[in-house]
Amino acid sequence: RGKFEESLRRELRRRLSPLGEIQFNYERGRIFILPAEGKEIFSEEDLVLLREESPLIAGVSSVSPGFLLPTDFAAIEAKVNSIFPKLYASFSREYPDKEITYAMRVRRTHKAFPLESKEIEIHFAQELVKSYPDLKIDLRNAELLLELEIRPQHSFLFWERTEGAGGLPVGSGGKLLALLSGGFDSPVACYQMFLRGCNIDFLTFHSSPYTPPATLSKVADLVKRLNQLQIPGKLFAVNLLPAQKEIRDKCQSRYRTILYRRMMLRIAEKLAYRQKAKALLTGDNLGQVASQTLDNMAIINNATEMLILRPLLAAEKVDTINLAQKIGTYDISIEDVPDSCTVFATNDPATKALLRKVLQDEEKLNIPELLQECFNTLEIIPT
Ligand code: ATP
Ligand code: MG
Repeated sequence: RGKFEESLRRELRRRLSPLGEIQFNYERGRIFILPAEGKEIFSEEDLVLLREESPLIAGVSSVSPGFLLPTDFAAIEAKVNSIFPKLYASFSREYPDKEITYAMRVRRTHKAFPLESKEIEIHFAQELVKSYPDLKIDLRNAELLLELEIRPQHSFLFWERTEGAGGLPVGSGGKLLALLSGGFDSPVACYQMFLRGCNIDFLTFHSSPYTPPATLSKVADLVKRLNQLQIPGKLFAVNLLPAQKEIRDKCQSRYRTILYRRMMLRIAEKLAYRQKAKALLTGDNLGQVASQTLDNMAIINNATEMLILRPLLAAEKVDTINLAQKIGTYDISIEDVPDSCTVFATNDPATKALLRKVLQDEEKLNIPELLQECFNTLEIIPT
Protein backbone atom coordinates (compact mmCIF):
# COMPACT_ATOMS: atom_id res chain seq x y z
CA ARG A 1 0.00 0.00 0.00
CA GLY A 2 2.80 2.38 0.93
CA LYS A 3 4.49 1.85 -2.42
CA PHE A 4 1.24 2.27 -4.36
CA GLU A 5 0.42 5.49 -2.55
CA GLU A 6 3.88 6.81 -3.17
CA SER A 7 3.68 6.22 -6.93
CA LEU A 8 0.22 7.77 -7.01
CA ARG A 9 1.50 10.91 -5.30
CA ARG A 10 4.47 11.07 -7.62
CA GLU A 11 2.19 10.83 -10.66
CA LEU A 12 -0.17 13.49 -9.34
CA ARG A 13 2.75 15.77 -8.63
CA ARG A 14 4.09 15.29 -12.13
CA ARG A 15 0.76 15.80 -13.88
CA LEU A 16 -0.13 18.82 -11.77
CA SER A 17 3.28 20.44 -12.16
CA PRO A 18 1.78 23.26 -14.31
CA LEU A 19 0.16 24.46 -11.09
CA GLY A 20 3.57 25.31 -9.64
CA GLU A 21 4.46 24.78 -6.02
CA ILE A 22 1.41 22.98 -4.71
CA GLN A 23 1.36 21.21 -1.36
CA PHE A 24 0.37 17.64 -0.69
CA ASN A 25 -1.12 16.50 2.53
CA TYR A 26 -1.42 12.74 2.95
CA GLU A 27 -3.66 10.80 5.16
CA ARG A 28 -4.62 7.17 5.03
CA GLY A 29 -6.83 6.77 2.00
CA ARG A 30 -6.84 10.47 1.15
CA ILE A 31 -4.57 12.88 -0.64
CA PHE A 32 -5.29 16.54 -0.05
CA ILE A 33 -3.87 18.88 -2.66
CA LEU A 34 -3.41 22.43 -1.44
CA PRO A 35 -2.33 25.64 -3.17
CA ALA A 36 1.20 26.93 -2.69
CA GLU A 37 1.97 28.24 0.75
CA GLY A 38 0.58 31.73 1.24
CA LYS A 39 -2.24 31.13 -1.26
CA GLU A 40 -5.62 30.52 0.34
CA ILE A 41 -7.49 28.92 -2.56
CA PHE A 42 -6.87 27.65 -6.09
CA SER A 43 -7.68 29.94 -9.01
CA GLU A 44 -10.51 28.95 -11.37
CA GLU A 45 -7.86 28.13 -13.97
CA ASP A 46 -6.05 25.79 -11.59
CA LEU A 47 -9.34 24.11 -10.76
CA VAL A 48 -9.95 23.31 -14.43
CA LEU A 49 -6.71 21.33 -14.60
CA LEU A 50 -7.42 19.67 -11.26
CA ARG A 51 -10.93 18.69 -12.26
CA GLU A 52 -10.06 17.47 -15.76
CA GLU A 53 -6.70 15.83 -15.32
CA SER A 54 -6.49 14.35 -11.85
CA PRO A 55 -9.44 11.94 -12.36
CA LEU A 56 -7.55 10.40 -15.31
CA ILE A 57 -4.52 9.46 -13.25
CA ALA A 58 -4.32 5.73 -12.61
CA GLY A 59 -5.20 4.90 -9.02
CA VAL A 60 -7.47 7.89 -8.36
CA SER A 61 -10.90 6.78 -7.21
CA SER A 62 -12.60 10.16 -7.00
CA VAL A 63 -11.82 13.85 -7.00
CA SER A 64 -13.57 16.51 -4.94
CA PRO A 65 -12.77 20.19 -4.74
CA GLY A 66 -13.53 21.48 -1.27
CA PHE A 67 -12.22 23.20 1.83
CA LEU A 68 -9.80 21.89 4.41
CA LEU A 69 -10.78 23.39 7.76
CA PRO A 70 -9.73 23.23 11.38
CA THR A 71 -11.63 20.51 13.23
CA ASP A 72 -13.64 23.03 15.15
CA PHE A 73 -17.38 23.47 14.96
CA ALA A 74 -17.34 27.29 14.82
CA ALA A 75 -14.90 27.21 11.88
CA ILE A 76 -16.99 24.61 10.07
CA GLU A 77 -20.19 26.56 10.59
CA ALA A 78 -18.59 29.79 9.43
CA LYS A 79 -17.41 28.09 6.22
CA VAL A 80 -20.80 26.50 5.49
CA ASN A 81 -22.47 29.87 5.97
CA SER A 82 -19.98 31.69 3.79
CA ILE A 83 -20.07 29.27 0.84
CA PHE A 84 -23.75 28.38 0.89
CA PRO A 85 -25.17 31.45 -0.90
CA LYS A 86 -22.90 30.83 -3.88
CA LEU A 87 -23.57 27.10 -3.91
CA TYR A 88 -27.30 27.68 -3.70
CA ALA A 89 -27.18 30.20 -6.52
CA SER A 90 -25.32 27.83 -8.80
CA PHE A 91 -27.76 24.97 -8.10
CA SER A 92 -30.69 27.35 -8.72
CA ARG A 93 -29.24 28.13 -12.11
CA GLU A 94 -28.86 24.44 -12.84
CA TYR A 95 -32.41 23.56 -11.69
CA PRO A 96 -34.52 26.66 -12.36
CA ASP A 97 -38.27 26.53 -11.57
CA LYS A 98 -37.96 23.88 -8.94
CA GLU A 99 -37.06 23.24 -5.35
CA ILE A 100 -33.54 22.10 -4.68
CA THR A 101 -33.18 18.91 -2.74
CA TYR A 102 -30.54 18.99 -0.06
CA ALA A 103 -28.81 16.66 2.34
CA MET A 104 -25.67 16.65 4.42
CA ARG A 105 -23.57 13.61 5.12
CA VAL A 106 -21.11 13.78 7.97
CA ARG A 107 -18.45 11.18 8.67
CA ARG A 108 -16.53 11.41 11.87
CA THR A 109 -13.19 9.64 12.19
CA HIS A 110 -12.34 11.94 15.09
CA LYS A 111 -14.45 10.29 17.74
CA ALA A 112 -13.61 12.88 20.38
CA PHE A 113 -15.45 15.60 18.45
CA PRO A 114 -18.12 17.01 20.78
CA LEU A 115 -21.01 16.60 18.31
CA GLU A 116 -22.32 13.40 16.76
CA SER A 117 -22.63 13.17 12.96
CA LYS A 118 -26.42 13.15 13.15
CA GLU A 119 -26.49 16.23 15.38
CA ILE A 120 -24.39 18.16 12.89
CA GLU A 121 -26.55 17.07 9.95
CA ILE A 122 -29.74 18.11 11.75
CA HIS A 123 -28.27 21.40 12.90
CA PHE A 124 -27.38 22.51 9.38
CA ALA A 125 -30.61 21.21 7.87
CA GLN A 126 -32.62 23.33 10.30
CA GLU A 127 -30.50 26.43 9.84
CA LEU A 128 -30.39 26.25 6.06
CA VAL A 129 -34.06 25.52 5.54
CA LYS A 130 -34.83 28.64 7.59
CA SER A 131 -32.79 30.84 5.29
CA TYR A 132 -33.59 29.09 2.00
CA PRO A 133 -37.30 28.31 1.73
CA ASP A 134 -36.86 26.52 -1.62
CA LEU A 135 -34.48 24.01 -0.11
CA LYS A 136 -36.11 20.65 0.44
CA ILE A 137 -34.52 17.97 2.57
CA ASP A 138 -34.14 14.68 0.72
CA LEU A 139 -31.77 12.27 2.36
CA ARG A 140 -31.81 9.78 -0.47
CA ASN A 141 -31.60 11.75 -3.70
CA ALA A 142 -30.22 15.14 -2.82
CA GLU A 143 -29.06 17.28 -5.71
CA LEU A 144 -27.02 19.34 -3.33
CA LEU A 145 -25.19 16.89 -1.12
CA LEU A 146 -22.88 18.60 1.33
CA GLU A 147 -20.27 16.22 2.67
CA LEU A 148 -18.18 16.75 5.76
CA GLU A 149 -15.41 14.55 7.05
CA ILE A 150 -14.37 15.29 10.59
CA ARG A 151 -10.81 14.10 11.02
CA PRO A 152 -8.42 14.52 13.94
CA GLN A 153 -6.14 17.12 12.34
CA HIS A 154 -8.63 18.91 10.14
CA SER A 155 -12.00 18.54 8.50
CA PHE A 156 -12.93 18.41 4.85
CA LEU A 157 -16.05 20.05 3.42
CA PHE A 158 -17.10 19.30 -0.17
CA TRP A 159 -20.15 18.93 -2.42
CA GLU A 160 -18.84 17.53 -5.67
CA ARG A 161 -17.38 14.14 -6.63
CA THR A 162 -15.89 13.34 -9.99
CA GLU A 163 -15.39 9.65 -10.44
CA GLY A 164 -11.74 8.81 -11.07
CA ALA A 165 -10.22 6.19 -13.34
CA GLY A 166 -9.54 3.78 -10.48
CA GLY A 167 -7.04 1.06 -11.23
CA LEU A 168 -3.53 0.81 -9.88
CA PRO A 169 -0.92 3.57 -9.83
CA VAL A 170 1.37 3.73 -12.84
CA GLY A 171 4.69 2.00 -12.28
CA SER A 172 3.33 -0.75 -10.07
CA GLY A 173 2.63 -3.18 -12.92
CA GLY A 174 5.78 -3.60 -15.03
CA LYS A 175 6.93 -2.50 -18.45
CA LEU A 176 5.21 -3.03 -21.82
CA LEU A 177 6.03 -2.19 -25.41
CA ALA A 178 2.96 -0.91 -27.25
CA LEU A 179 2.52 -1.14 -31.00
CA LEU A 180 1.10 2.28 -31.54
CA SER A 181 -0.57 3.35 -34.77
CA GLY A 182 -2.32 6.64 -35.36
CA GLY A 183 -5.75 5.05 -34.90
CA PHE A 184 -8.24 5.28 -32.06
CA ASP A 185 -7.65 1.88 -30.55
CA SER A 186 -3.99 1.54 -29.67
CA PRO A 187 -3.79 4.79 -27.60
CA VAL A 188 -6.86 3.71 -25.63
CA ALA A 189 -5.36 0.25 -25.14
CA CYS A 190 -2.28 1.98 -23.67
CA TYR A 191 -4.43 3.94 -21.26
CA GLN A 192 -6.21 0.77 -20.16
CA MET A 193 -2.84 -0.71 -19.23
CA PHE A 194 -1.75 2.48 -17.43
CA LEU A 195 -4.75 1.75 -15.23
CA ARG A 196 -3.33 -1.65 -14.45
CA GLY A 197 -0.14 0.03 -13.29
CA CYS A 198 1.93 -0.63 -16.42
CA ASN A 199 4.58 1.65 -17.78
CA ILE A 200 4.78 1.79 -21.56
CA ASP A 201 7.33 2.39 -24.29
CA PHE A 202 5.92 2.84 -27.78
CA LEU A 203 6.84 1.49 -31.20
CA THR A 204 5.33 2.75 -34.41
CA PHE A 205 5.90 1.66 -37.99
CA HIS A 206 6.00 3.97 -40.97
CA SER A 207 6.81 3.41 -44.63
CA SER A 208 8.73 6.53 -45.49
CA PRO A 209 8.78 7.90 -48.20
CA TYR A 210 5.46 6.19 -49.02
CA THR A 211 4.01 7.61 -45.83
CA PRO A 212 4.50 11.35 -45.18
CA PRO A 213 6.30 12.84 -42.16
CA ALA A 214 2.83 13.57 -40.74
CA THR A 215 2.40 9.81 -40.06
CA LEU A 216 5.15 10.04 -37.47
CA SER A 217 4.29 13.45 -36.09
CA LYS A 218 0.74 12.32 -35.45
CA VAL A 219 1.97 9.37 -33.39
CA ALA A 220 4.43 11.69 -31.61
CA ASP A 221 1.47 13.90 -30.64
CA LEU A 222 -0.37 10.87 -29.28
CA VAL A 223 2.65 9.82 -27.23
CA LYS A 224 3.07 13.34 -25.91
CA ARG A 225 -0.47 13.20 -24.57
CA LEU A 226 -0.19 9.62 -23.26
CA ASN A 227 3.08 10.46 -21.52
CA GLN A 228 1.25 13.05 -19.45
CA LEU A 229 -0.62 10.12 -17.93
CA GLN A 230 2.35 7.93 -17.05
CA ILE A 231 6.04 8.09 -16.20
CA PRO A 232 7.05 9.18 -19.72
CA GLY A 233 8.00 6.34 -22.06
CA LYS A 234 10.10 6.45 -25.23
CA LEU A 235 8.72 6.48 -28.76
CA PHE A 236 10.58 4.28 -31.25
CA ALA A 237 9.95 4.28 -34.98
CA VAL A 238 10.89 1.67 -37.55
CA ASN A 239 10.57 1.86 -41.32
CA LEU A 240 8.73 -1.25 -42.46
CA LEU A 241 9.13 -0.47 -46.15
CA PRO A 242 12.02 -2.86 -46.88
CA ALA A 243 9.87 -5.77 -45.70
CA GLN A 244 6.72 -4.43 -47.33
CA LYS A 245 8.38 -4.24 -50.74
CA GLU A 246 9.57 -7.83 -50.56
CA ILE A 247 6.17 -8.99 -49.36
CA ARG A 248 4.50 -7.10 -52.20
CA ASP A 249 6.85 -8.57 -54.80
CA LYS A 250 7.06 -12.15 -53.60
CA CYS A 251 3.93 -13.09 -51.69
CA GLN A 252 0.21 -13.42 -52.31
CA SER A 253 -1.55 -10.09 -52.14
CA ARG A 254 -4.31 -11.51 -49.95
CA TYR A 255 -1.78 -12.26 -47.21
CA ARG A 256 -0.12 -8.89 -47.37
CA THR A 257 -1.52 -7.42 -44.17
CA ILE A 258 -0.96 -10.63 -42.25
CA LEU A 259 2.65 -10.76 -43.38
CA TYR A 260 3.17 -7.08 -42.51
CA ARG A 261 1.81 -7.70 -39.06
CA ARG A 262 3.99 -10.76 -38.54
CA MET A 263 7.03 -8.67 -39.40
CA MET A 264 5.85 -5.96 -37.04
CA LEU A 265 5.64 -8.45 -34.19
CA ARG A 266 9.10 -9.85 -34.84
CA ILE A 267 10.59 -6.37 -34.80
CA ALA A 268 8.60 -5.43 -31.72
CA GLU A 269 9.74 -8.56 -29.91
CA LYS A 270 13.38 -7.74 -30.60
CA LEU A 271 12.95 -4.21 -29.29
CA ALA A 272 10.94 -5.42 -26.28
CA TYR A 273 13.82 -7.62 -25.15
CA ARG A 274 16.17 -4.68 -25.49
CA GLN A 275 13.86 -2.42 -23.49
CA LYS A 276 13.22 -5.13 -20.90
CA ALA A 277 9.49 -5.02 -21.65
CA LYS A 278 7.67 -8.11 -20.45
CA ALA A 279 4.92 -8.14 -23.08
CA LEU A 280 3.65 -6.45 -26.23
CA LEU A 281 0.47 -4.42 -26.34
CA THR A 282 -1.85 -3.82 -29.29
CA GLY A 283 -5.22 -2.22 -29.93
CA ASP A 284 -6.62 -5.35 -31.59
CA ASN A 285 -10.37 -5.78 -31.42
CA LEU A 286 -11.87 -9.10 -32.45
CA GLY A 287 -13.58 -8.94 -35.81
CA GLN A 288 -13.03 -5.25 -36.42
CA VAL A 289 -11.01 -5.58 -39.61
CA ALA A 290 -9.75 -8.40 -41.81
CA SER A 291 -6.51 -8.84 -39.90
CA GLN A 292 -8.41 -9.16 -36.64
CA THR A 293 -10.52 -12.23 -37.27
CA LEU A 294 -9.72 -15.02 -34.83
CA ASP A 295 -8.10 -17.08 -37.59
CA ASN A 296 -5.86 -14.26 -38.71
CA MET A 297 -5.03 -13.09 -35.23
CA ALA A 298 -3.83 -16.58 -34.37
CA ILE A 299 -1.61 -16.65 -37.48
CA ILE A 300 -0.20 -13.22 -36.73
CA ASN A 301 0.37 -14.16 -33.09
CA ASN A 302 2.29 -17.22 -34.22
CA ALA A 303 5.20 -15.00 -35.35
CA THR A 304 6.24 -14.35 -31.76
CA GLU A 305 6.48 -16.24 -28.52
CA MET A 306 6.10 -13.12 -26.51
CA LEU A 307 2.95 -12.45 -24.54
CA ILE A 308 0.67 -10.03 -26.41
CA LEU A 309 -1.85 -8.01 -24.41
CA ARG A 310 -5.01 -6.88 -26.19
CA PRO A 311 -7.10 -5.01 -23.64
CA LEU A 312 -9.63 -3.89 -26.28
CA LEU A 313 -10.21 -7.37 -27.68
CA ALA A 314 -13.87 -7.37 -26.65
CA ALA A 315 -14.49 -3.64 -26.39
CA GLU A 316 -17.38 -1.86 -28.08
CA LYS A 317 -16.22 0.78 -30.54
CA VAL A 318 -18.43 3.47 -28.96
CA ASP A 319 -16.85 2.83 -25.56
CA THR A 320 -13.38 3.09 -27.06
CA ILE A 321 -14.29 6.33 -28.80
CA ASN A 322 -15.78 7.75 -25.59
CA LEU A 323 -12.67 6.87 -23.66
CA ALA A 324 -10.46 8.36 -26.39
CA GLN A 325 -12.41 11.58 -25.97
CA LYS A 326 -12.06 11.49 -22.22
CA ILE A 327 -8.31 10.97 -22.25
CA GLY A 328 -7.73 13.50 -25.00
CA THR A 329 -6.44 11.25 -27.80
CA TYR A 330 -9.57 11.44 -29.96
CA ASP A 331 -8.79 14.82 -31.53
CA ILE A 332 -5.33 13.60 -32.52
CA SER A 333 -6.42 10.17 -33.79
CA ILE A 334 -9.17 11.64 -35.95
CA GLU A 335 -6.69 13.52 -38.16
CA ASP A 336 -6.63 11.85 -41.54
CA VAL A 337 -3.04 10.76 -42.06
CA PRO A 338 -1.83 7.74 -44.10
CA ASP A 339 -0.93 4.64 -42.12
CA SER A 340 1.92 2.28 -42.83
CA CYS A 341 -0.53 -0.69 -43.03
CA THR A 342 -2.27 0.80 -46.04
CA VAL A 343 0.88 1.00 -48.17
CA PHE A 344 0.39 -1.37 -51.13
CA ALA A 345 -2.93 -2.40 -49.58
CA THR A 346 -5.14 -4.65 -51.67
CA ASN A 347 -8.88 -5.06 -51.65
CA ASP A 348 -8.85 -8.83 -51.38
CA PRO A 349 -7.46 -9.51 -47.89
CA ALA A 350 -7.89 -13.04 -46.58
CA THR A 351 -10.21 -13.10 -43.59
CA LYS A 352 -9.62 -16.77 -42.85
CA ALA A 353 -6.04 -17.50 -43.82
CA LEU A 354 -4.37 -20.86 -43.27
CA LEU A 355 -1.18 -20.88 -41.24
CA ARG A 356 0.37 -23.52 -43.48
CA LYS A 357 -0.22 -21.38 -46.58
CA VAL A 358 1.05 -18.24 -44.94
CA LEU A 359 4.21 -19.99 -43.80
CA GLN A 360 4.73 -21.35 -47.32
CA ASP A 361 4.45 -17.87 -48.69
CA GLU A 362 6.79 -16.49 -46.06
CA GLU A 363 9.47 -19.01 -47.06
CA LYS A 364 10.02 -16.87 -50.16
CA LEU A 365 11.36 -14.13 -47.90
CA ASN A 366 14.70 -13.87 -46.18
CA ILE A 367 13.23 -13.05 -42.78
CA PRO A 368 16.43 -12.54 -40.75
CA GLU A 369 17.82 -10.21 -43.38
CA LEU A 370 14.60 -8.18 -43.69
CA LEU A 371 14.31 -8.03 -39.94
CA GLN A 372 17.80 -6.62 -39.68
CA GLU A 373 17.22 -4.19 -42.54
CA CYS A 374 14.11 -2.82 -40.86
CA PHE A 375 15.69 -2.80 -37.45
CA ASN A 376 18.55 -0.71 -38.78
CA THR A 377 16.10 2.13 -39.35
CA LEU A 378 15.15 2.19 -35.65
CA GLU A 379 15.12 5.71 -34.26
CA ILE A 380 13.87 7.42 -31.16
CA ILE A 381 11.34 10.13 -31.93
CA PRO A 382 11.39 13.15 -29.61
CA THR A 383 8.00 13.94 -28.11
P1 ATP B 1 -5.81 1.29 -34.26
O1 ATP B 1 -7.08 2.05 -34.11
O2 ATP B 1 -5.03 1.13 -33.00
O3 ATP B 1 -4.98 1.77 -35.41
P2 ATP B 1 -7.07 -0.59 -35.94
O4 ATP B 1 -8.44 -0.86 -35.49
O5 ATP B 1 -6.84 0.40 -37.01
O6 ATP B 1 -6.25 -0.19 -34.63
P3 ATP B 1 -5.20 -2.38 -37.23
O7 ATP B 1 -4.80 -1.32 -38.16
O8 ATP B 1 -5.50 -3.75 -37.75
O9 ATP B 1 -6.46 -2.00 -36.34
O10 ATP B 1 -4.09 -2.54 -36.15
C1 ATP B 1 -4.25 -3.38 -35.06
C2 ATP B 1 -3.15 -3.08 -34.09
O11 ATP B 1 -1.87 -3.29 -34.68
C3 ATP B 1 -3.13 -1.62 -33.66
O12 ATP B 1 -4.01 -1.38 -32.61
C4 ATP B 1 -1.69 -1.46 -33.26
O13 ATP B 1 -1.46 -1.97 -31.98
C5 ATP B 1 -0.96 -2.31 -34.28
N1 ATP B 1 -0.57 -1.48 -35.44
C6 ATP B 1 -1.21 -1.33 -36.60
N2 ATP B 1 -0.55 -0.47 -37.41
C7 ATP B 1 0.54 -0.08 -36.75
C8 ATP B 1 1.64 0.80 -37.04
N3 ATP B 1 1.73 1.44 -38.19
N4 ATP B 1 2.59 0.96 -36.09
C9 ATP B 1 2.51 0.30 -34.92
N5 ATP B 1 1.52 -0.53 -34.60
C10 ATP B 1 0.55 -0.73 -35.49
MG1 MG C 1 -5.10 1.41 -37.51
